[in-house]
Amino acid sequence: MNRAQELSEALSIIREKFPWEGPRLGKDPFFGLLGVVLSQHTSDRMAEAAEKNLEAKYPSIEKLAAASCEELARIIRPAGMQNQKACTIQRLAWLELQRSFTTWARSVSWQDARALLVSVGGVGEKTADVFCMVYLDAPVVPVDVHVRRVSMRLGMTSSPSYASVQRAIHALVPSDLRKQMHLSMIRFGREICTSRAPKCSTCPVNAYCDYYVQNVPHSQA
Ligand code: SF4
Repeated sequence: MNRAQELSEALSIIREKFPWEGPRLGKDPFFGLLGVVLSQHTSDRMAEAAEKNLEAKYPSIEKLAAASCEELARIIRPAGMQNQKACTIQRLAWLELQRSFTTWARSVSWQDARALLVSVGGVGEKTADVFCMVYLDAPVVPVDVHVRRVSMRLGMTSSPSYASVQRAIHALVPSDLRKQMHLSMIRFGREICTSRAPKCSTCPVNAYCDYYVQNVPHSQA
């Protein structure tokens, strides 16, 4: 096996052994997008709590757009980073209200939709990619902290930049498997390839992992 084949094999094992359906995202793409914003840098449980608060208090886009950032921040406090997220949500509400963003997004290429989304202050590449993957069926692997860590440790790329990590994964994973790959890498990163004390000795892909060879002494025995 050459190196690309080894890494493909490692990713296939992760995909097969760590299936995950992902966090619950509603059918409505606009409120789903808000859910993605709320989920940044917090647990699924806290993001869901903030989302429920938001939907109960501001059930329509008009009400959201009319709310102040301060009001929104108070409501979404469980999700953390509430001031920044509140202003992002308000900007998205205006985008939806004035330009029917989510309807427009389905009428253009996902790349165009992504480009507009990342131009909104507070919306990063990962948030835009999750929206495009879930609601526009875009063949992208959003790069979160787990996806980046697993990719770097396996040795898929030496650069931690968003684009480098994503490019490395896309080169190895066919379009129709990328969504599952994203979800499986997150589960694998949470359960096995954890930030601290990864479970390398029992990891099912340690035979293909650069980190294992370089950092776990008995791996070379
Ligand atoms: S061997 Fe260790 S570092 Fe490598 S993928 Fe497995 S858990 Fe992560």
